[in-house]
Amino acid sequence: MVEERNVKSAKIKIPRAKMPEQHALQRVKNFNEVEFGLTVDDAVRESMRCLMCKKPKCTSGCPVEIDIKGFIDLVRQKRFSEALEKIREKNSLPAVCGRVCPQEDQCEKVCILGIKDDPVAIGKLERFVADFEEKDNKPDLETDVRHTVDSFKPDDKDINNSNYEDRKTLINPDNNYKNKNTLINPDNSLKVAVIGSGPAGLTCAGELARMGYRVTVFEALHEPGGVLVYGIPEFRLPKSIVKKEVEYVKSLGVEISINSVIGKTFTVDELMGQGFKSVFIGTGAGLPYFMNILGENLNGVYSANEYLTRVNLMKAYLFPEWDTPVKKADTISVVGGGNVALDSARTAKRLGAKNVYLIYRRSEVEMPGRIEEIKHAKEEGVEMTFLTNPVEICGRDGWVEKIRCIKMELGEPDESGRRRPVPIPDSEFEIATEIVVMAIGQGPNPLLTRTSPDINLNKRGNIIADQIGKTSKKGVFAGGDIVTGSATVILAMGAGKVAARTINEYIETGVW
Ligand code: FAD
Ligand code: SF4
Repeated sequence: MVEERNVKSAKIKIPRAKMPEQHALQRVKNFNEVEFGLTVDDAVRESMRCLMCKKPKCTSGCPVEIDIKGFIDLVRQKRFSEALEKIREKNSLPAVCGRVCPQEDQCEKVCILGIKDDPVAIGKLERFVADFEEKDNKPDLETDVRHTVDSFKPDDKDINNSNYEDRKTLINPDNNYKNKNTLINPDNSLKVAVIGSGPAGLTCAGELARMGYRVTVFEALHEPGGVLVYGIPEFRLPKSIVKKEVEYVKSLGVEISINSVIGKTFTVDELMGQGFKSVFIGTGAGLPYFMNILGENLNGVYSANEYLTRVNLMKAYLFPEWDTPVKKADTISVVGGGNVALDSARTAKRLGAKNVYLIYRRSEVEMPGRIEEIKHAKEEGVEMTFLTNPVEICGRDGWVEKIRCIKMELGEPDESGRRRPVPIPDSEFEIATEIVVMAIGQGPNPLLTRTSPDINLNKRGNIIADQIGKTSKKGVFAGGDIVTGSATVILAMGAGKVAARTINEYIETGVW
């Protein structure tokens, strides 16, 4: 008992790992990834902080229920390939999730170490394990482990009772990760269609392929990945990483048919007519909202969706090698307070804007963006204009010239639980600006659902699906942002996973 307490207090003394990153002044001049990732030593040291709780809370905080303690234990033993396999049992996009999940609201929020100290850096460890697979120059594992273990002697006799000598025998430097196509039913040749190749579609497709189904993903754009390729910028999620994750899903046998807009190329019924036993819809929330204020039709007003798609998917930041133009200006205003707004503001900085204003109607406390992105945006010089709401965009000769705003104060909590912003009378003021990017949310694109009137929608146009992904149409399932509205990568993946199980059950039993 005393020994266990000593081990715990020694772990608390190990500071949470910090990720090395590009300096803010340097990174605003390029689109390279901001953070470099943990080193082997840092990752192993961080894994030593884990208390190996008998009843860990972290897994229940993860929407796809990764065995977090299990994978961290493998990191401690430097069995990185096995750690990756452990994560992939539940999550087919670990390099993505390690980078973009809001861990502070999920696994790390409930980590038991976090009660008295900083929680284990679970996201950073997940990213480390996923990235490690790619690295050519693998370290001298024995030396590294000895070094690490020696530096943290009290942790040797950990709660698993595996001391240093035991651990050494567990290390297998030749254990490179091999793609495991864990086919549950290899003889299954039934076809399933997945519409949309974002995290929901890719996860559902991967899971079904593992069960042995012949899965075809239909994607409207010319590249698979959904928001991961067209929305989240390169400096936060390199596209090579998304490509690798897509390749992994393909390696499970999934076919991806790009430039296929369901609702135009084929309807859902036509897909069913082509022999697909079931259809999963994961078409996301790609239709941008506007504020419906005067001036939104001026030149120089973008939806965040268009602005980011031009820069990310169409590589406008590499103009003229890539022939997509995007307007550049000294002063840009971005309206919104979530990840989309932060990504747009930081993109504008990298395109050379001197003044980037982020205009948000609530205060910093209510900002829905990831804490790390808010910190990074501030470091990069994005000026946060809180408790402010635009009322008109004013122009000259058809182009944006300024944005007229009103100051807000916080009133009673609204249905989201956050305090409602209320305009302060007679507090209007103007901000000179050449570009306005609207990042106030996105809704579902109606292209598909218009051609499938028997799929029930809610009043926002989102598909109504139950907890296990069933829609009102027999054989058709849905999940991700198309059901929930804009949410998170991991929730979309969770929905894709659950739907895959239900689809399997439906096809096997025929019961709807
Ligand atoms: P999507 O990723 O939107 O994918 C849907 C796919 O379906 C798209 O590829 C689309 O082209 C395709 N499609 C649409 N209609 C059709 C059709 N008719 N036929 C064929 N294909 C079609 N979440 C986080 O967790 N962390 C973050 O840091 C984060 N940052 C974000 C930043 C931005 C800029 C944006 C826009 C979102 C961000 N999100 C973040 C939210 C997250 O990306 C989404 O919740 C998630 O991608 C939803 O996944 P999905 O699979 O449901 O949809
Ligand atoms: Fe480790 Fe935190 Fe999970 Fe406990 S709750 S096992 S300390 S990651």
